[in-house]
Amino acid sequence: MDINAEAQTMFAPPAAESHGPSAPPASMFDNMPGYEGTLAGGGGGFLPPPMPAHPVPQPEPAPEQPHWNIPSITEETAQEALKLYASSKCCYSSAPAKDGVITNMEAFNTYRYRLETFTESRSTEWSHEPYTGQPVDAYAQPPPGPWDIPAKAVNFFLNDKQTIKVPYTSSVKSCHGCVGMGRKPCKDCAGAGNKVCWVCNGSGYRHGDDRCHHCSGRGRENCTRCHGQGAMQCDICRGKQQLLVYINLTVKWTNNSNDYVVEQLSGLNSDNLSQVSGKELFRDTQYLVYPVMGFPDPAVVQAAQRFISEHQGKFSQTSRILQQRQTIELIPVTRVTYLWKGKSHVYFVYGNEFKVNADNYPATCCCTLM
Ligand SMILES: [Zn+2]
Ligand SMILES: [Zn+2]
Ligand SMILES: [Zn+2]
Repeated sequence: MDINAEAQTMFAPPAAESHGPSAPPASMFDNMPGYEGTLAGGGGGFLPPPMPAHPVPQPEPAPEQPHWNIPSITEETAQEALKLYASSKCCYSSAPAKDGVITNMEAFNTYRYRLETFTESRSTEWSHEPYTGQPVDAYAQPPPGPWDIPAKAVNFFLNDKQTIKVPYTSSVKSCHGCVGMGRKPCKDCAGAGNKVCWVCNGSGYRHGDDRCHHCSGRGRENCTRCHGQGAMQCDICRGKQQLLVYINLTVKWTNNSNDYVVEQLSGLNSDNLSQVSGKELFRDTQYLVYPVMGFPDPAVVQAAQRFISEHQGKFSQTSRILQQRQTIELIPVTRVTYLWKGKSHVYFVYGNEFKVNADNYPATCCCTLM
């Protein structure tokens, strides 16, 4: 068994388990060469990409690493950041931020390595829509293979989706929902067009001999759902009696992103860093990237190697890799110690955004301050 056939078996859609009452019968779908596993609705057949006809270009080592310097923030920036932070909290007093005296600033700058793998995956399913004279082309010629149908991502590294009617798969079938009638009996009145009067409960009389005004003594009233018709337009063919049945191809573009942040020992929880950006030290965009080499921090190099091999293994079987991007950011983290009312307090300023974390801010309720 070659890899492609094996993958086809691995990712073959599960057999359809239950069809609703209005599910189309299997006989409604033609046998389309190259689309044999395609099901109706929902669990669309998943289609692994064919093996490349040409050898895949191997990734090249990245160019020399840039020289980089460690930015640090000034005391003024640190104090301004804390003032902004205090004023953003409705009940925090600004006094500690304004009057606190900074006694120590320590840099705990760290790196974030990010690998993004932009992939394309394709799946098919049988679909139908009311027939209103659309082109009918099934069997005019064999349909193109699912990976031969042109579709282009508008933007790389952004999730997107496109649905395409597969050429040469469209045919016209009688609607299965109404057996080609275009109308279905009304469920509310069981097709009668009227129902037992809800006011007199069908007797035609109220309070002894008084005739029921609601139904004029008939005991029945018109069905409001079908306006007395007893039937309603079929919602599957919208009254057209016929359906255009065709295969839909769904092309899905996904940006698969993984971050690795080197542990910093400042006391700030690293989860906070996912909300901020850093200074980009390195960016490398290629069809397939090569693990970054010679970076001063070996943890970053290891993370790059691990992510790249994981992504290749995970995404090349089930989808087509269109592009990869790896970046290294330096995220500034500063631990600030300051004195307020004779006591020492600590906060963190981090990211290009100068975001503040001050879990132990000393005056979190302005009303009790004075
Ligand atoms: Zn009705
Ligand atoms: Zn009545
Ligand atoms: Zn119908």
